[in-house]
Amino acid sequence: MPLLTVKNLRTQFSTDRGLVRAVDGVSFLLEEGEVMGLVGESGSGKSITAMSIMRLIKEPPGKITADEITFDGVDLLSLSPAQLRSYRARHISMIFQDPMRSLNPVLTVGRQLTETLRRHLGMSAHSARRRAVELLEMVGIPRAEKRLDEFPHQFSGGMRQRVMIAIALSCNPRLLIADEATTALDVTIQAQIIDLVRRLRAELGTAVIWISHDLGLVAGLCDKVSVMYAGRIVESGPVREVFYRPAHGYTLGLMNCTPRIDAVGQRLRPIDGMPPNLAEPITLCPFLPRCERALDICHEAKPHLQSVGSRHVASCHADLTNYWRKDKIV
Ligand code: ADP
Ligand code: MG
Repeated sequence: MPLLTVKNLRTQFSTDRGLVRAVDGVSFLLEEGEVMGLVGESGSGKSITAMSIMRLIKEPPGKITADEITFDGVDLLSLSPAQLRSYRARHISMIFQDPMRSLNPVLTVGRQLTETLRRHLGMSAHSARRRAVELLEMVGIPRAEKRLDEFPHQFSGGMRQRVMIAIALSCNPRLLIADEATTALDVTIQAQIIDLVRRLRAELGTAVIWISHDLGLVAGLCDKVSVMYAGRIVESGPVREVFYRPAHGYTLGLMNCTPRIDAVGQRLRPIDGMPPNLAEPITLCPFLPRCERALDICHEAKPHLQSVGSRHVASCHADLTNYWRKDKIV
């Protein structure tokens, strides 16, 4: 049984522009201990997908529907708001780009950590404090004992993000959802946090959904990846499959505007055009207006997700295999 099953998730917002279909039929499975990347340009629906799973969307104006959202066999759609909150604290943790938004500025870091431990795991003050020190040490914060008594603003950006991760991991969640968690940090600190997530996955077996617009980062960290565009998953599969043999014009476009470590003097090409207006119905491929490889059939029939390799699916009529061959030979 997968750890997380999401089937046909849809999230819409009523706005004065009409109904915005922010997430439009997203499905995926996540196995225990698996690390999945969710990539796509800004506005493609990555954050709303994550927040909808945790029902962190205000309803109304939002409206979330799904055929199934189950976590470890439990139907998350049937939980009451209170049950869901306790689930969020105990089993599924989220970290965001801006740790200041999630940390309380007037409480010491130690207080925030120990309160989580006492409330959700029923620890005594003494053992919570001891565990808090361990957690800060685990995420690589030096002089942990002393730093427990400091406030969030006394920590640097990178250290604050580590504190967030320590809090997120304090109750040994089975799933960690990180939404652009390292985007605001400089490259060195980003690398340290990625290392940390890799280690935690190895040591604790935590499953991770890593949301990022940085393909390189996802390629280095994740087992599999789903590519989102206009609120849908347009391609997904094992990281090596998707990045070596992209099967959707959009994935190829994203890769062409990502710098490669091994390519000196490589030309980066941004994808021309804009994503579609989500307040208008999309009947064909949502990427069609921007696609350089569109065929006649793309103007006639909507492509559906279909198998293009081992556990690799894409919704694209174009045959990109020529592109792979050229890319390999050059
Ligand atoms: P990403 O995280 O991939 O950058 P989001 O999931 O934040 O994208 O947003 C997906 C789409 O949903 C965007 O087009 C955004 O404008 C729209 N959206 C998000 N929140 C609202 C809202 N409260 N009302 C209307 N549209 C929204
Ligand atoms: Mg986002």
